[in-house]
Amino acid sequence: MERFTCPKCGTQYPTDIPRWRCECGAPLDLEFEPTFNREDIAGRDPTIWRYREAIPIRDDRNIVSLDEGFTPLLEVDLEGRRVLVKGDHQFPTGSFKDRGASVLVSKIKELGITDVVEDSSGNAGCAITAYCSKAGIRCTIYVPEGTSQGKLETIEGYGANLVKVPGTREDTAEEAMRAAEKTYYASHVWNPFFHHGTKTFAYEVCEQLGWRTPDSLVLPVGNGTLLLGAYIGFRELKAVEIVDKIPRLIAIQARACAPLYHAFKENLGEIDRKKTIAEGIAVAEPVRGTQILEAVRATGGDFYIVSDEEIRTSREKMKEEGFDIEPTAAATTAGLTKHMKRAEHDELVVSVFTGRRR
Ligand SMILES: [Zn+2]
Repeated sequence: MERFTCPKCGTQYPTDIPRWRCECGAPLDLEFEPTFNREDIAGRDPTIWRYREAIPIRDDRNIVSLDEGFTPLLEVDLEGRRVLVKGDHQFPTGSFKDRGASVLVSKIKELGITDVVEDSSGNAGCAITAYCSKAGIRCTIYVPEGTSQGKLETIEGYGANLVKVPGTREDTAEEAMRAAEKTYYASHVWNPFFHHGTKTFAYEVCEQLGWRTPDSLVLPVGNGTLLLGAYIGFRELKAVEIVDKIPRLIAIQARACAPLYHAFKENLGEIDRKKTIAEGIAVAEPVRGTQILEAVRATGGDFYIVSDEEIRTSREKMKEEGFDIEPTAAATTAGLTKHMKRAEHDELVVSVFTGRRR
């Protein structure tokens, strides 16, 4: 049984009819019962598709894959301690977003859709474009007008049509949504099939630890696509009794743009919109902000913010260790550094290199 459910109003929808949000306007969740056969999994190729029966694609012929996943769990020296970091910077298009793109684009192929839109000027845009290109699906990416030439060239290099939209990041999203009325919105934020790709992060961590749960996961939060995916993955593993606990989710935001950190610390259920505007913070409102706050609270987790200076320092440190990660990925390692100063001596901590330098 597989269906969309609305966490806000409870409405359910079938998944074989294209839909990217509830009639009430809220983002949808996907209800799906995964199965895991650990012996079968152990004998399969090192990609996310080794967890085939846990990924909601019906027909193998619809799988769109670039052999992504099963990235190494790297040992990194941090503040004199060895910590485990998933090498998701090693993905084909350069970031963990390939997890979500592979599953979402496979679903798009399964639905027989040949034309999609997405709004992203970064890693998600590259990932969706690359997988659409592999599947022969036309892909149009909406980007804010001011997006750097380098990013535009990267996305164009993967074969997308680019539409530059004047105004803010929100104006760009609105333009993409309007276009999606006639095509399909392959949104890494709205579409729950994307999160059912990023959830493979949890499966891999668990398997690589000998089917164990770490004590805490230190993950970045912008739109929360990795954190929410990891939360789905560990809940699924717990539901089938492979693990008996879900790790504490430690969420990292950059000080310059930390609406969820502030909402968490002030014990709010959602972002205080007036406040973030008053503080002049350039915020892209995370669509699933409420869900992110709920997930972190439900696991007894926490939020940290990191400054630009801490991010720069951490990136240099990682370079010395031999890891050439992108600046946004260094926000996570800066947060990880902070967490390791407070972590229990025997705490098993796992974090992530989200993307590599382009
Ligand atoms: Zn609803």
